[in-house]
Amino acid sequence: MVERRLIAIEGLVQGVGFRPFVYRLAAAHDLRGSVRNEGGGVLVDVEGEPDALESFVSGLAVAPPPSAVIDSILAAAAPPRQYGTLNIMESADASERSALVLPDLATCDGCIAELFDPADRRHRYPFITCTDCGPRFTILDAVPFDRARTTMAGFPMCAACRGEYENPGDRRFHAQSIACADCGPTLRLEPMVKDSQAMRGESALAEAAESLRRGEIVALKGLGGFHLACDATNGSAVCRLRMRKQRDAKPFAIMVGGLEEAGELC
Ligand SMILES: [Zn+2]
Ligand SMILES: [Zn+2]
Repeated sequence: MVERRLIAIEGLVQGVGFRPFVYRLAAAHDLRGSVRNEGGGVLVDVEGEPDALESFVSGLAVAPPPSAVIDSILAAAAPPRQYGTLNIMESADASERSALVLPDLATCDGCIAELFDPADRRHRYPFITCTDCGPRFTILDAVPFDRARTTMAGFPMCAACRGEYENPGDRRFHAQSIACADCGPTLRLEPMVKDSQAMRGESALAEAAESLRRGEIVALKGLGGFHLACDATNGSAVCRLRMRKQRDAKPFAIMVGGLEEAGELC
């Protein structure tokens, strides 16, 4: 006999691929109903066989997405409604605001592999992300974390990205920051000289790198704001940045490729 459960999951569960994870788990248990962000958590409303429901609820805490943190899972029985399908719902406007700050997540190994794979459609696409990685806090305008409430709202998905976004088997299923070179943000370098042409794509990247090597200061606009960058090993470049920032002694942050490189400098 079909039963129905309302399951409220609280914790750091928005913007970390939690709804796609719940969707896959529910589909594997042949459940029907819906999954949605609500306030600071995720609300699951599903029907199925009692054994399947029980196994589904206990499975939620077993292998959640790597960046999710579950504080609590509350399940309650409710009268069945004979749901026909399983869906991920866009969020209703929540009156309650989450106090949890969703962290930006460093590019995952899967995305790094695609980034440098000449056969991949995101080969060398600088804003590559997936359900498990990419900006969260930086692009968030309001909770719940849905694309329409992020600075990515101005970049409508292309057909290929939409296909991935809507495919439960894809690793970008409901990845709110999904983008590619055809539909997402792109690179552009504004020249210092007025009226000269802006550079785009790979040539913009190459010229920015060359500017840094020449000891110039590059203002790098990312998804969230500006970083001022210069070659940290170039004394006169650092000195000029200090003068422009009017920052005499306070240390600057140094960007490194990873923990290993940071260890060499410490
Ligand atoms: Zn990724
Ligand atoms: Zn796209």
